[in-house]
Amino acid sequence: MNLQSGTDITPALRIIPRDQHIISRKNISNAALRVLYRLNEAGYTAYLVGGAVRDLLLGLHPKDFDIATSATPDEVKRLFRNCRLIGRRFRLAHVVFGPEIIEVATFRGLGEEGGEGDRHIVDGRIVRDNIWGTIEEDAIRRDFRVNAMYYDISDFSVRDYVGGMQDLQDRVLRLIGDPVTRYREDPVRMLRAARLAAKLDMRIDAAAMAPFESLGPLLAEAAPARLFDESLKMFLGGQGLKSFRMLEHSGLLKFLFPVTARALARGDDALRSLVGQGLANTDARIAEDKSVTPAFLFAVLLWGEVRDVAQHWMARGQDGSEAWARAAAQVVAEQCQRVAIPRRFTLTMEEIWSLQPRFEQIQRKRVFRLMTHPRFRAAFDFLLLRADESPAIRELGLWWAHAQQLPQDVLSAALPVGGGSAVSDHAALPVAARPSRPRRRRRKPGDKSGSA
Ligand code: ATP
Ligand code: MG
Repeated sequence: MNLQSGTDITPALRIIPRDQHIISRKNISNAALRVLYRLNEAGYTAYLVGGAVRDLLLGLHPKDFDIATSATPDEVKRLFRNCRLIGRRFRLAHVVFGPEIIEVATFRGLGEEGGEGDRHIVDGRIVRDNIWGTIEEDAIRRDFRVNAMYYDISDFSVRDYVGGMQDLQDRVLRLIGDPVTRYREDPVRMLRAARLAAKLDMRIDAAAMAPFESLGPLLAEAAPARLFDESLKMFLGGQGLKSFRMLEHSGLLKFLFPVTARALARGDDALRSLVGQGLANTDARIAEDKSVTPAFLFAVLLWGEVRDVAQHWMARGQDGSEAWARAAAQVVAEQCQRVAIPRRFTLTMEEIWSLQPRFEQIQRKRVFRLMTHPRFRAAFDFLLLRADESPAIRELGLWWAHAQQLPQDVLSAALPVGGGSAVSDHAALPVAARPSRPRRRRRKPGDKSGSA
C-alpha cells in the first residue's frame, strides 16, 4: 500500500478538553488503561485511538481498544511481560490480558522515505518495513476523519487532527484527503465506508461515495481472504441488514457479491425477502448473544443463484441431486474468486442447500433420516426463510414445524411407509394422535428435485 496520499493534507490540531466531551475512563477497558498508564510512566506518549475513541464519543461500546504510541514495538515488548510482536511488514505489539488483547501500534509515517524506521530486505524481499512517524502523520494516514482522534490519558483530552469531531456531529463519514487517491491505495476503504455508515448510522459524504462506481472494480484486486474478513464484519457485526442495504444502495454489492447482485437483479421478490429476513434473523441472534455461523449467512446470500442454476440443469435433464451439486459447486467457485469463504463453511452451505429438496419427501424412513441429519436444524431454518417462494414451500415449513413437535411414535404412525416421494399436506398430520388420512401425491410442475 502506498501511503503518499496524506502529504497534501495539513493537520490542524484541535484539543477538546475533558469537560467538552463524554469519554469517561469508566467506559475504557482496564487492560487498555493499564497499557496507557504504563507507557506514559515510561516516558512515551500513548493514546487510545481509532474506532474506540469514535465509538466512545458516540456513546457506544467499542469492541476493541487500540493504542498508538511513540514507543517502538521492541520498547513496548520490554515494558510488558504479556506482550508479543506480530506482523511482518508492519510490526505491532499485542499486549495480552486473558481473553482481551490490546493492540499497540507505533505512530506510523506516510511514505517509504520520510519517517524514522527500519527496513529489512532478505533475498530482495521486504520482510520488515517499519516506517515510524509522528502523531500527525499517524492521523492523516487513517481512513476516515472520525477514525483519527486520540484520547490522551495524561489529561483526558481528545486530540482531533483532521476535523473528526465535526463529522461526528454532522453524522457524516468523510475520507481524509482525496477520495480517489485513498481508494486507489486501498479499495477496501469503500467497503469500510459502507460498513461504518451502517454500524454508526451515519451517511457517507457525497465526495466519498462518488468514486464507488468507477473504482468498485478495484475490489477484484483485493485479497479474497481479506474480503472474507470484511464480509464477516459487515454481516456478523450486528448490523448485517443495514450493511447489506448500504452495499446495495451504494452500488458496491455487485463488486463483492456479484452472484447475489445478479440473482436479485432478476427482480425476484421472494429472494429479496429471504435475504432480508436471513440477515435480520442473524442480527437478532447476535443481539441476543446467540451463536451465528457464516455458513448459514453465505447460504442465504447465494441461494437465489444456486436454485436457479440447479433448475437450469434439471431443465436440461440432469437428475436432481446431480443438478444441485453442480449448481452449488459452480456458484461457490464463482463467489470464492472474490470472497474466500473457507472450505469448512462452503461444505456446510452445500449441505444446507442439498437438504432443501429432501424436505419434500414425506415418507417414514426419509423423514426420520432427515430429522437426525447433523444439518437438519440449519436446513429447516433455511426452509422457513423460503416461505415466500411459493405456498407449497410455506406449507412444507409448517408441516415440518408441526412434525418436530409430535412424539416419535405418533409421527411415525402418521407417515406413509414408502413408495416414492410426495409433497406434504401438513393438515394430514395428527394434532394429537388422530389417525392419518390417506395422502395425495403431488409434485410441482417441472420440479424433479424430489429424487435428490
Ligand atoms: P470497528 O468498530 O469495526 O473495529 P474500526 O474503525 O475500529 O471499526 P479497525 O479495523 O479496528 O476498524 O481499525 C482501527 C483503526 O485503524 C481505524 O479506526 C482507522 O483509524 C485505522 N484503519 C483501519 N483500516 C484502515 C484502512 N484500510 N486505511 C486506513 N486506516 C485504517
Ligand atoms: Mg476497531
